[in-house]
Amino acid sequence: MNHRKIRFSDLIADIGAKILIAALVAIVTITALLIAGCRYVYQNVKENTSLQCERNAKISAQEFNRYLIVGNHTTALVGYTIDNMLAEGRSTVEMLNYMTDETRSIQSFVDAGFTGIYGWVNDRYLDGDGWVPDDDYVPTERPWYIETMENKGEGLTYIKPYVDAQTNTVMMTIAKKLRDGESVIALDISLAGIKDITDKIASSAKGAQGIVFDNSGSIVAHSDYNKTDYKFMEDDCELGQLIYNKILSGGSGRFEIVYDNDTYLIYAEELECGWYCVSAINTHDLFRGLRIFAFVAFFAILIIITIITLIFLDISKSNLITKEQNAQLASVSQIYISMYDVNLEKDTYQEICCNAERISEVVGPTGDHAQETLYNAMNLLTDKSCLDEVHEFINMSTLDERMKNQDTITEEHLNNVGKWCRGRFIAGERGADDKLKRVLWVVEPIDTEKRQRDKLLLLSETDRMTDIFNRSAGENKITKLMREGVGGMLMLLDVDKFKSINDNFGHDIGDKVIVAIAESMKKTFRSRDIVFRLGGDEFAAYAVGVTSQEEGRPIIERFFEKIKNIKIDALGDTKVLVSVGVAFYYNSEMITFEELYKRADECTYKSKKHEGNYVSFYEIKRKES
Ligand code: GH3
Ligand code: MG
Repeated sequence: MNHRKIRFSDLIADIGAKILIAALVAIVTITALLIAGCRYVYQNVKENTSLQCERNAKISAQEFNRYLIVGNHTTALVGYTIDNMLAEGRSTVEMLNYMTDETRSIQSFVDAGFTGIYGWVNDRYLDGDGWVPDDDYVPTERPWYIETMENKGEGLTYIKPYVDAQTNTVMMTIAKKLRDGESVIALDISLAGIKDITDKIASSAKGAQGIVFDNSGSIVAHSDYNKTDYKFMEDDCELGQLIYNKILSGGSGRFEIVYDNDTYLIYAEELECGWYCVSAINTHDLFRGLRIFAFVAFFAILIIITIITLIFLDISKSNLITKEQNAQLASVSQIYISMYDVNLEKDTYQEICCNAERISEVVGPTGDHAQETLYNAMNLLTDKSCLDEVHEFINMSTLDERMKNQDTITEEHLNNVGKWCRGRFIAGERGADDKLKRVLWVVEPIDTEKRQRDKLLLLSETDRMTDIFNRSAGENKITKLMREGVGGMLMLLDVDKFKSINDNFGHDIGDKVIVAIAESMKKTFRSRDIVFRLGGDEFAAYAVGVTSQEEGRPIIERFFEKIKNIKIDALGDTKVLVSVGVAFYYNSEMITFEELYKRADECTYKSKKHEGNYVSFYEIKRKES
């Protein structure tokens, strides 16, 4: 069935505001839950990362402190002892020996890359490791001396790392200014191990960096080698500077820094030497996985919502089409008494309309056992005279055969209140093999139409003057019976000398004679027999089931009796006489109506030769069947 084009606005209007609002609320809720979920995960990851950051920095600081502690203590002890030796006026050789002993001792006990204790004492360079500097080596111009002298405090001085000219390794120096204000004791430590510490921080989390600042804010070690290039003295690390400034303003601890559009989680732990061990984690890298997850989840939900919306719209469109079709069907069905959709495969039915209470009392709006229900309903609602035909018609097991090349079949019956109805099956759905799956069973009222039709038919079949069938009606009905194999007796009659009746008594009297003969025929033959006027003064009758002279003759005699009794005053003594010819049709014989008529007509002609009211029978040698 064609249906009108469904517009989007029609769909929206049909779906209704409530469902649309519910769908929007659902979408907003899902999105809000997704955002809340991501936010929750983000906060958790952030918190864990911060804790990890703190732990990294603290552990690294501990390691670093452990790394420096031997050097610190040794430098402090040697400084203290040399101070005392100076106070006691000990010789330079004694002091050098002491420094040599301490150097050996520390080198034999600790594997931390100590090169030896040296210093500027009493205006002389002393080296516990026995190193003899070149002539151009001026100790008081070296960083370890200059920086130590600049240090106002009493404690140790930590000299920025540098590349040792002798060993080409990265070294740092722990130094102590002695009480005379000019002497300095120093100890070099290889910093190869610091890289391990910062690397460990960097490998602890994605996007993590480990940085060690000295007390002037210079980067001593960085997990990203590019930031130091092993030189440590160069400072090209802006992030490091930002971190250090923050440390200076707020001290150590946990904080965040935004740099180059990225947020860094920072934890700075102060080392014993006054430096800082910093763990920095780039949240951009850290949350990349979460961002990808949120991104993918968002698009997945978007796609799912789109697909669900499309499916929903498609279903809604189908529903709207069905709804409109049902509405159209319902309006069409108003003209019917009842209409049911019957599923032949499942033997179920569904009411489309039922405009008669007496039907809905018997048949529910929907149900199983469609065939049985239909039989029961029609038994109650059909006039007994039509029940056999109706039963045959509503037999659904033969529907496929009967509706093979037809979309609809009908029958007409009288219902139990005497009104004419038309039962109809309409093909609904057919299977691949053209087998019917669904049909519509419809009952429509046709009482007025049927009666008018019957009236018109009767008029067209009736001879106006006599009120019996006319020639074509009579011939058709006899032909039909003969085709159905219904045997019978065809009687033809012609009024004798009718012209003279007309001539002598007038046409009106002639008409009365014709009407009287028709009346006599009607009285003679049974209602199932066919009585008709051939035209003029000729009549015919087909007596159903009469197939022998023995049966036929009494009927003809009875008819002659009636003719004799015709009383038309104007005729006076003049009698109405007829000549009759009879031929039989046996259902074993294959002849046409024309042939049968011819036989009877021959007999009429024979009878004309006799004086009035004479009958001639067509003689035929009947074959034994
Ligand atoms: P026969 O005995 O040989 O049958 O002679 P007949 O005079 O009856 O002749 P025929 O049957 O050939 O003529 C029938 C006449 O019936 C001819 C016609 O004028 C007359 N007729 C035909 N139709 C009507 C009618 O409707 N009313 C009247 N009054 N006369 C009719
Ligand atoms: Mg005649």
